[in-house]
Amino acid sequence: MGYTYDTNNIFAKILRGEIPNKTVLETEHSLAFHDIAPQAPVHVLVIPKGPYVCLDHFAQEASDAEIIDYTRAIGKVCEMTGVQPSQGGQGFRAIANTGEAGVQEVPHLHTHILGGRILGRMVSRAAE
Ligand code: AMP
Repeated sequence: MGYTYDTNNIFAKILRGEIPNKTVLETEHSLAFHDIAPQAPVHVLVIPKGPYVCLDHFAQEASDAEIIDYTRAIGKVCEMTGVQPSQGGQGFRAIANTGEAGVQEVPHLHTHILGGRILGRMVSRAAE
């Protein structure tokens, strides 16, 4: 069973310029912008411009150029936001929530880059 991309999702509207965003970085195949409801002092979302629902969809169907661009964009965002440990930053967490169990709200691949504070455990022990 393959993925069906919903062209009306909110990130598709951002990519079409129908909804504003606070852009951090734009590359040929990717866009990074501040999360509208930040969970940490640094909370940036990195999305591919192509119509990919989630990380495994992207990993399996995106072109090499898209995958390289996306990975490099994530690296650049880490550098730009000062979270890179190698540059004196405190570190960060990269999260790509996927599907129901991952509690993904927006069905367009996005990687959350969170940092600027100690983030606590990776997942809660109990189901919410
Ligand atoms: P997820 O639960 O992983 O799908 O996360 C979706 C994220 O998108 C949440 O952190 C929202 O705060 C964020 N979000 C929703 N709408 C917007 C928007 N218009 N601009 C920026 N971030 C948004």
